[in-house]
Amino acid sequence: MQKFKPYIPEYSPLDFTFRSATIGQTILQTMVSSINQTAKIGASVEITDRCNAGCNYCYVYPKDWNQEQRLQGYTQTPPDKKSEGYDRIIGILQQLKDEGILHVTLVGGEPALAPKILKKAVEMFPIVWIVTNGSISLPKLKDNAIVFVSIDGPPDYHNAARDPQNFFANFKYRGLEGISAKIVKNINESHRGAYVHCTFTPSHLDRFDETISWLVKDIKKLRGIVISGATVKDLSDPNAFTHESKLRLGSLVERSAIKYGWDLFPFNTPQINQYLFDPKHEIKYSSQCAVSQRVKSLDYFGQSTGKCVLRNESICETCICNSNGLMRSLEAFDTQTMMQQFLSLLG
Ligand code: SF4
Ligand code: SF4
Repeated sequence: MQKFKPYIPEYSPLDFTFRSATIGQTILQTMVSSINQTAKIGASVEITDRCNAGCNYCYVYPKDWNQEQRLQGYTQTPPDKKSEGYDRIIGILQQLKDEGILHVTLVGGEPALAPKILKKAVEMFPIVWIVTNGSISLPKLKDNAIVFVSIDGPPDYHNAARDPQNFFANFKYRGLEGISAKIVKNINESHRGAYVHCTFTPSHLDRFDETISWLVKDIKKLRGIVISGATVKDLSDPNAFTHESKLRLGSLVERSAIKYGWDLFPFNTPQINQYLFDPKHEIKYSSQCAVSQRVKSLDYFGQSTGKCVLRNESICETCICNSNGLMRSLEAFDTQTMMQQFLSLLG
């Protein structure tokens, strides 16, 4: 079995040197600021209230809102007033920059529906993560933009979860149909490729291997896969991860890494996985969570979303949040995690 080779965007030697120096400086500043464990080093911002998907588990929109309503946005702002939103979001980003934040994660709604804000944000911050549903092409962005496309499972599973009203049903690409086809086409034709972020639930762990082999086979500009798990608001929810199902997901990642190589899972190094899946590292309260303590999470109005982007109702002990494992591993100076981070931050 041939090992997975991540897609690496092209760089001129000058660009590579400049970007490496920026990353080095950012990591150094982050490590210095980590001496003060309460200092915020990053921020997550909802840059639009609009979305073209219809995920039935969405934490942003009411369950009974269809894709037409989501596209209009939850503020239901008339089109001629939309520019107020742009000015407000740029103001929020400027304030974060003035506070010394180096790393922003742009979420939504669907961030690709706010291309002007994306372009502005990459001019303002050295590291910009964009979390997108992947069904809309992103504008061409500078190399400090790193794209994460959310995928829930194999094509049929993903289409049912993300597009229950079949908005994308007629779209076809290389044997794929629906929103999955649109996503694969967009990544393959993108300027700098993308990471795929898979969020599993205990009930579809038996489709893990199928999901990974599909992504590796069909996405030509795949930079790596991020594995995390759904967080629930109610312990009786069948999607709540238990110790047993967390360990099972951890062993599935490990088995797949042995098959394809650890380069496929740059955000799931063995150290990160220990924090994510080993019950002895389980987090019970947000005060124990590096993300909650070190990252500001702001909604479309610049208000705090609570302890994290998942809102206060989410139950920490069920959470398999990748960023948390990543931050804890970096704070533990794990060299494999540091090296993978350097490569991923090249953007
Ligand atoms: S893509 Fe994100 S914001 Fe849009 S409906 Fe799905 S979960 Fe909600
Ligand atoms: S739900 Fe997860 S990310 Fe949010 S505070 Fe709890 S452990 Fe951290």
